[in-house]
Formats: sequence, structure tokens, C-alpha cells
Amino acid sequence: MKAIRVSEYGGPAVLKLEEVPTPQPGPGQVLVRNHAVGVNPVDTYLRANVDNRGPKLPYTPGTDAAGVVEAVGAGVAGVGQGDRVYVGGTLSGAYAELALCDPAQLHPLPGTVSFAQGAAMNIPYGTAYHALVDRARGEAGESVLVHGASGGVGLGAVQIARARGLTVLGTAGTERGRRLVAEQGAHHVLDHGAPGYLDELLRLTGGRGVDIVLEMLANVNLQKDLGVVATGGRIVVIGNRGTIEINPRGAMNKNCAILGMALYHAAPRQLAGIHAALVEGLRNGTLRPVVAEELPLARAGRAHEAVMEAGHHGKIVLIP
Ligand code: NAP
Repeated sequence: MKAIRVSEYGGPAVLKLEEVPTPQPGPGQVLVRNHAVGVNPVDTYLRANVDNRGPKLPYTPGTDAAGVVEAVGAGVAGVGQGDRVYVGGTLSGAYAELALCDPAQLHPLPGTVSFAQGAAMNIPYGTAYHALVDRARGEAGESVLVHGASGGVGLGAVQIARARGLTVLGTAGTERGRRLVAEQGAHHVLDHGAPGYLDELLRLTGGRGVDIVLEMLANVNLQKDLGVVATGGRIVVIGNRGTIEINPRGAMNKNCAILGMALYHAAPRQLAGIHAALVEGLRNGTLRPVVAEELPLARAGRAHEAVMEAGHHGKIVLIP
């Protein structure tokens, strides 16, 4: 089968399309034929070995995909050949025609949802749900600022928060992005590139601020978030690409919590709950992943450039 392989850490050019042996499912394993593969920012950090967290070389990148079960190993129950699934983690890497998985990594993909949309589920929607529900404990009737709402995680957060009865404020850097954020359910949309854009948030909330901030670029926004979080509020750091100086007095005065979150810390029981909720959201139509661009698997390098560029409005997927 064809797979993208990384044999040295570096820029997008280290992603090479190669012929590799087709994996066979052992006992307790499932083989999935990928129809679409999700590209996430974390795939680029691992490829470049940021923070020394790169996988052991050589490796096949990726955690997110959607496709059809090709074969099941001995002892596998609850999933069978021909089932449509989305994949949340693999044993062999997702940037490939086929991926070997543990059954717990597979989730049903309703027939109304495309494979490209299924490939947009795991990291983006899992992160949005874990941040809003498990970390921030967001409740119906509260307000949330999705600071960076036009990307994969942000659009997921807007849809999940809206479906759960929160008042949703979202930001985007382009006109097209802001239109999309509004279409996907945000009650109010702001331009994170405009001077003084958070003054408008304070006006919209009667000066009180928001109960929750889901932050996609903390190194730029954390100090500003302290100015717009309500007393007793929660700021969840989801994305960060550098350092920032903040005045901790802002947190003290607001009696607020600044919460870090990383999806890879979610416990197996939490992951099971997250995906049960996400699958139900796909079934009932409250979750509708937005695909920005589909590229052939061979163009994984271009996909890694695109995912780090501003203004791509939704999810970038690879088609094997
Ligand atoms: P993405 O699809 O590339 O989206 C990036 C988002 O950031 C876009 O909405 C972009 O808006 C927005 N942005 C750009 N400049 C901004 C600013 N000044 N203020 C606020 N937002 C701004 O990426 P993603 O997959 O949604 O991931 C978002 C971030 O979360 C990434 O840094 C990623 O590494 C991180 N992440 C963390 C976890 C975790 O477990 N902690 C999991 C998944 C992702 P415009 O393009 O409209 O300007």
C-alpha cells in the first residue's frame, strides 16, 4: 500500500510517499481502508520534532481518518467488515491507504456524513469538547468566547457550544472566516485582527465579559483574555505558539482560572464519553464538520504548509 513516511525530522519536504507492506490485523486489531485523512497542526510539530516530541523514526504520521473497515482480527467484537468509521488514533499511522487500529480507536460514521467530514472529527472536535465540557465545565446559559473560531477546533467548539445552549462569541481574521463562524452558529462574530475588537465583546455582554474563553493562540491573547473574562470565569489554553508576558493581577481580580488542556491527557473513560457525544452530534445534525480543502495523499507536504497558514476556514484533508 501507499503511505507517507518520515525518515528524518524537518520541513514539509521530509514527507515522502512510499510503497510499504500492507498491514494485517492481528488478534484484537482492525484494519481500516482510509477514504480521507485529517491534517492537524500537531502533525507538523511532530514532523519538525518540536519540544523533542517527534515519534521514533521512521514513522507514518497522522491520527485522524475516516473510511471503511477492511478486515478484523480474531476476538474483535462490535465492529465488522464494511462498517463506516472515523478513526481517533491508529497503531500504524493515518497518512496511508490503510491503517491498523485498536477497536477503541474506531467510532461509527453515520451515512449522512462524508468521509472528509469524518476525518475532521477526532482531534478538532475531541479537543473542542474536552476543553468546553471536561475542562471549563461549560453549562447551558453561560457565554463562551471561541478566540480563533474559523479553524478546525474553533468551528467544532462553536457547534458544540451552540448545541449545548451557551451564548457563543467567535473570532476570525477574514471576512469569509467570520461569515462561516456566523453560519456555524456563533451568536456574535468579531475580527481578531481589528484594533479594539474586544471592546465590542464587553459592549455585547453589558460589561460583564464571558464565562469561558477557549483560546487558540494564547501567546498573543492571554493578557487580553484576562480583560474580557467574567468574574469567576475560566480561560482554557488550547493553542499556543510562543511566549507572552501577563499581569497575574488580572486573574486575581477576576477570581478566574487559567486552565491548560491537551487532548492526549484525556483519560480512556473521558475519551469514550467524548466520542459518544460526538457520534450523537453527527447523527442528530448538530455537528457538521466543515472541510476547507481536499488534497491527494501525495501532497501531504503542501497540506502541512496550508495547515499552518492563516485563513483556511475549516479542515484540510488528504485523500489516499
Ligand atoms: P487551524 O485550523 O489552523 O485554526 C487556527 C485558528 O487560529 C483559526 O481560527 C485562525 O483564525 C485562528 N487565529 C489566527 N490568529 C489569531 C489570533 N490573533 N487570535 C485568535 N485566533 C487566531 O488550527 P486548529 O486545528 O483549529 O488548532 C488551533 C490551535 O490549537 C493550534 O495551535 C493547534 O496546535 C492547537 N491544538 C491544541 C490541541 C490540544 O490538545 N491542546 C488540540 C488541537 C489543536 P484566522 O485564520 O481566521 O485568522
